[in-house]
This record gives sequence, C-alpha cells and structure tokens, in this order.
Amino acid sequence: MADINIIHNYPKMGIPMGKLKPKRVRKNIELTLWERLYIFEIIRGMHITTIHFFLNLLGFIFPPKGKKRRIMTVYYPEEKLTLPVAYRGRPVLVMRENGTEKCVACGLCEKICPASAITIIAEEKENGERFPAAYTLDMARCVYCGYCEEVCPKEAIVMSAEYEGLARRNRQNLRFSKDKLLRPEKSVKDRIEYIRGIYAKCNY
Ligand code: SF4
Ligand code: SF4
Repeated sequence: MADINIIHNYPKMGIPMGKLKPKRVRKNIELTLWERLYIFEIIRGMHITTIHFFLNLLGFIFPPKGKKRRIMTVYYPEEKLTLPVAYRGRPVLVMRENGTEKCVACGLCEKICPASAITIIAEEKENGERFPAAYTLDMARCVYCGYCEEVCPKEAIVMSAEYEGLARRNRQNLRFSKDKLLRPEKSVKDRIEYIRGIYAKCNY
C-alpha cells in the first residue's frame, strides 16, 4: 500500500481539461507543391518552435501576478495534472472499509480479459462466501481496455487514475499480487460513480 502515498504527496495542477481543445485533423494527405519543396516547411516548423520557445521563456520569467507562470507547462514529476474521471489507468481491486476485497472470485474478469492478464485462485470461507485467495494482474500484458471493470458484477475492479510504477526493467515486477492491487473504496469513489453512469446507460 506504500505506493498510494507516493501518488498523493505531490501538488496537482488544476488545469481544466476543457481547455485542451482538439485541433482539426487534416485528412488530405496529398502534399501541395509548396510542401513538396520541403525547405519552406522546415523553416515554418522552426519558426513555430522558436515562437513557442520564447513565449514559454517569457511566461516563465515574467509570471502574471499571483501565478507561478503564464504558460501551461506541467513540471512532472513535481507537479501532476488532475486527470478526468474517464481516464483509464491501471486496474485496481476495491477494498472495503474492513480491509477485505469486494471481489468474490467469480472469474468473469479473468475470462473476459483479452490479454489473459488476470489469474485468480478462488477459495471459499466457512460461511460459503467465495474470495480470491490469490489475484494476480500482469501489467506487462494489460492493454487498459477496461473490460474487467465493465464485466465485474461487484464493482470490485476499476480502472484507477494511476499511471506510475509501470516502467520496470524486469517484467516479473509488473505482476501485481492482490495486496499490491487493493485500494480503499473511497480513493476510487469518483470512478465507481462514473462507471455506474456509463454502464447503466450503455448496457442495460
Ligand atoms: S484492462 Fe483489459 S487487458 Fe487490462 S486486465 Fe482489464 S480486461 Fe485485461
Ligand atoms: S469480475 Fe469482479 S468479482 Fe469477479 S473475479 Fe473479477 S474482480 Fe472479482
């Protein structure tokens, strides 16, 4: 559970995602004569890059009053963006307040996973309740499709906003066991609310 603290210890940049307007995509891939001459396009590219360089530099040296800087640049990893709730980061298991997992080891997520990234060993408690004695998620295989989250009848696995700790030299280190996957329910509350909305709308 130590990595939860790492995630929440940094200041976050509250930049509204609505500001990131998508640019128009040019579908015509036929180059004009001007573009085929190439050299002018290189000069145009250098011109744009130089303008951005000086704008960023000036925005950094002369920030507006009360602000750290004018330009929207995120100084990762010291700063982080607040990700939208629709973002699909690494899947995590949801933990109840008493520290137990919500998962009932039904095996649906294991079955549906297109990358065969999930392995579950199910057991039964004395009262007949099923639980995952072992739950392994291989993040070297996961394709972040979200099917596991969508299929789960218990809201026990969700796509979190976590995207760190997934670059390792050894693939074995990307095999996360149950204790590394469990997250308190309140830390993924927004995502749970979100998926209730989208899956209720699309599937039922
Ligand atoms: S997000 Fe997709 S690939 Fe990753 S574990 Fe879930 S079902 Fe498998
Ligand atoms: S679908 Fe949900 S309840 Fe079933 S095994 Fe997967 S995480 Fe557990």
